[in-house]
Amino acid sequence: MLNKRKSHKTLVFFATNFDYREPYQVLIDATFCQAALQHKIIIEEQIKKYFQCQAKLLTTQCVILEAEALGAPLTGATSIVKQFHVHKCGHEGKPVAAADCIKSMTKDNRYIVASQDRRLQQSLRKIPGRCLLYLHKATPVLEAPSDASKKCVQKRTKQLMLGKQVAKIDYMKQQQGICTTENDGTPKKKKGPKNPNPLSCKKSKKQKESPQQILHRVEQTTLTKAKRKRVKIPAHVKEALSKP
Ligand SMILES: [Zn+2]
Repeated sequence: MLNKRKSHKTLVFFATNFDYREPYQVLIDATFCQAALQHKIIIEEQIKKYFQCQAKLLTTQCVILEAEALGAPLTGATSIVKQFHVHKCGHEGKPVAAADCIKSMTKDNRYIVASQDRRLQQSLRKIPGRCLLYLHKATPVLEAPSDASKKCVQKRTKQLMLGKQVAKIDYMKQQQGICTTENDGTPKKKKGPKNPNPLSCKKSKKQKESPQQILHRVEQTTLTKAKRKRVKIPAHVKEALSKP
């Protein structure tokens, strides 16, 4: 009974946060069938009893082909897995390993993965939103959400809360007549450094430049500004400046 309540809680978590919907689709591999066979359980019966709701049991061509290729030790499991509905996996004509097929199947669809394959379980736990079912002896167990799933939900909740807070602050500002929009018609104050107060400014004690220095400075400034507009110093000015 405790197990069932736990599984219900897990299903609610995945339904709420990752769009899992009834009838839940359970993607089964040969390792799960092998364990069911060893513990003499009928998968369909046990899963329906455990979930207490609609569940669709299915597999893929890649899972069946891998089980068949393994031959004798898996003959029983192969005949069980073949009974389930076969979902198209996109590897028709070029089958891949069962675990890779299952991983790719869970990318865009909400499948509860029923497997005893530890490596597959480990890699699925790292991805938020993946839901795992396994057999503990003869009992199906829906694994509690992985850390990756929980972290993903926590992050989303935080962002949602933050968004709500910002909206609330905007609403409060509006209520109090504080405008939050940028173009509210009021002239904006210029930002940046202010001009110095002329009264507090002392005249700089620059040394007098010689005419040659002035000529050099003017030439330098015109050179740097030359790209936009070349200022030509009239010949008579040049001549007057160059005289000592
Ligand atoms: Zn496949």
